[in-house]
Amino acid sequence: MSSYRRVLLKLSGEILAGQAGFGLDLTEVQKIARNIADAARSGLEIALVVGGGNIFRGIQAVDKGFDRAQADNMGMLATVINALALQDALERLDVPTRVQTAIEMRELAEPFIRRRALSHLEKGRVVIFAAGTGSPYFSTDTAAALRAAEIGADCVLKGTKVDGIYDRDPVKYPEAKRFSRITYLEALQRQLKVMDAAAFSLCMENGIPIVVFDIHGEGNLKKLLVDGEDVGTLVT
Ligand code: UDP
Repeated sequence: MSSYRRVLLKLSGEILAGQAGFGLDLTEVQKIARNIADAARSGLEIALVVGGGNIFRGIQAVDKGFDRAQADNMGMLATVINALALQDALERLDVPTRVQTAIEMRELAEPFIRRRALSHLEKGRVVIFAAGTGSPYFSTDTAAALRAAEIGADCVLKGTKVDGIYDRDPVKYPEAKRFSRITYLEALQRQLKVMDAAAFSLCMENGIPIVVFDIHGEGNLKKLLVDGEDVGTLVT
């Protein structure tokens, strides 16, 4: 059995893009939704923060001459598209959900209200937090750490394309070593890119463990959350 009761799962936008590497691959979205549904049915409280990099990433637009704050606002809107796609896929699997946005858009989602989010979670709804922190110059990793702290999540799960944290890039270096556990300080000293610095320090300051794992691995989310298996790398 896992010791987690309430978790915050961070999904980067690129996970939803599939082979194309851009936009939404609906088959991929459905696959991820099935994994989340399996874990949600076991009685765990699940909150999601979804990125937008598969559609728009502010910093990349700045390289092309866009204003940073404007580009970041566009990036935050991209996360809302992903959140609505995930909501649809989850509800088709009969998982009750609510989307809460950090930027008000009441016609399509609730605004972020912490106490209301907690009440949804207690009622077994999957809460999807969209529009990041609502402020430019931040990332959805930071939004994940922030929301995790606000809702009192037991951990931040970072679902990625790789199966954990390595001492160097496992794609470039086949001999790279994977950590099953690592401390916040060691990850910092080794400059391992677990999350961006703001996100990482929020987790560290608030003692929120981070698990980096392969979201595509068959049943990984359930193994991690329901069966309590060691999947990925745990940062504490
Ligand atoms: N963003 C922002 N503030 C936030 C979160 C996100 O301005 O609090 C913008 C930023 O431009 C970012 C984009 O939204 O590039 C998409 O988020 P992110 O890059 O974190 O998505 P991911 O890489 O996880 O798909």
